[in-house]
Amino acid sequence: LSFSLQAKMSRPVQARRLEGIDKNIWVEFVKLAATYSTVNLGQGFPDFPPPDFLKEAFVRALSGENHMLHQYTRGFGHPPLVKILAEFFGKLLGRDLDSVTNVMVTVGAYQALFCCFQAFVDEGDEVIIIEPFFDCYEPMVKMAGGTPVFVPLRPKAPKDGKLMSSADWQLDPAELASKFSERTKAIVLNSPNNPLGKVFSRGELELIADLCVKHDVVCISDEVYEWLVYDGKEHIRIASLRGMWDRTVIIGSAGKTFSATGWKVGWVVGPNRLLQHLRTVHQNSVYHCATAAQDAVAQGFQRELELYGKPDSYFIQLPKELQQKRDWLIQSLDAVGMKPIVPEGTYFLVADISKFKSDVPDVPDSDEPYDSRFAKWMVKNKGLAAIPLSAFYSGAHKNNYNHFIRFCFAKEEATLKAANDILQKWKQEKTSP
Ligand code: PMP
Repeated sequence: LSFSLQAKMSRPVQARRLEGIDKNIWVEFVKLAATYSTVNLGQGFPDFPPPDFLKEAFVRALSGENHMLHQYTRGFGHPPLVKILAEFFGKLLGRDLDSVTNVMVTVGAYQALFCCFQAFVDEGDEVIIIEPFFDCYEPMVKMAGGTPVFVPLRPKAPKDGKLMSSADWQLDPAELASKFSERTKAIVLNSPNNPLGKVFSRGELELIADLCVKHDVVCISDEVYEWLVYDGKEHIRIASLRGMWDRTVIIGSAGKTFSATGWKVGWVVGPNRLLQHLRTVHQNSVYHCATAAQDAVAQGFQRELELYGKPDSYFIQLPKELQQKRDWLIQSLDAVGMKPIVPEGTYFLVADISKFKSDVPDVPDSDEPYDSRFAKWMVKNKGLAAIPLSAFYSGAHKNNYNHFIRFCFAKEEATLKAANDILQKWKQEKTSP
């Protein structure tokens, strides 16, 4: 016994770079959803299967003749995958891409982001992040020694009687410009944006692009929802704007693109002068992503290249189906007075919970934002899981917009119907004496 007591470590073990980033809301909300939810519209993943052609491609990769697909492949990306990505994105961007130098495969878009911050951000560098944002940007910048600088999308009241749209959340041009300085190394752009579903307009992208060029700043463009755009809106790639190719890394995700988030295949497309540094981080961290999954994604892109722009293309089918699901959820929420903000893209939808405040009274002086307590109450008492919008704001700004929650509508019709039943029943309980 005395030996084991002596052997106990007493020195602090946590590296300084982890200070202040050790809490993560996903751990808590994923657990709450697993424990209490009957309908989980929280975390962002489909509950419907990936397309058959993709599943079949994975089976072929695993059980086909080429047993080398069970072994390591090229560290920076399986050759068939980087080849087809170069071809596909070359077509989208209207430029010749080299599969070896302009494309790198990562363990999901998540690792692509991590590589970017590690490769570009030094101690003291500032990185501009547009709020609300996919929450990992902030800790990843901090872990690299950088300082996140936040600039908000500000909501404008919608026209009388209309539902608010994600397009009503806009940057103030002067405010955005004021965040750029000689310390600014990079800006993170996420269009279509998680959590609002905002699809940045050409004018908004030009504003950002002009500032990037003026201040010689790198643009980390997280485009994982590039195919999920509704109502005929267009996803514009900021790298295609003047002066931007040379300073932009485009991040994508097979998880979001093919409804297979568990495969964790992502990629980066960009100029070699930026990608060479991402390769250094990748080489010295994960080194390699699962070969068979990469091979299947390559086959998926091969199919999509052949069907590009045709009605059978998954990149046309999926947004069509999701738009219908979006509209169902909008109807369900609107009918009970949980005002939805109509998203132009992504499979997320943010809704205003102000009208439900009598059900979950506020606790003045609580450290926890109202929406967070509301979302916890909702999953425990109604079995419906969603994510508080405050999770997508930095520490000091968590109470700026704290009466919204985010739903994911990439769900089977039955799941959305079950959510509707919960909301309807809740409304009846509220109105009956
Ligand atoms: N960026 C955004 C905006 C996301 O929403 C997500 C996933 N929720 C990712 C990146 C990570 O994607 P992946 O699953 O491919 O790592």
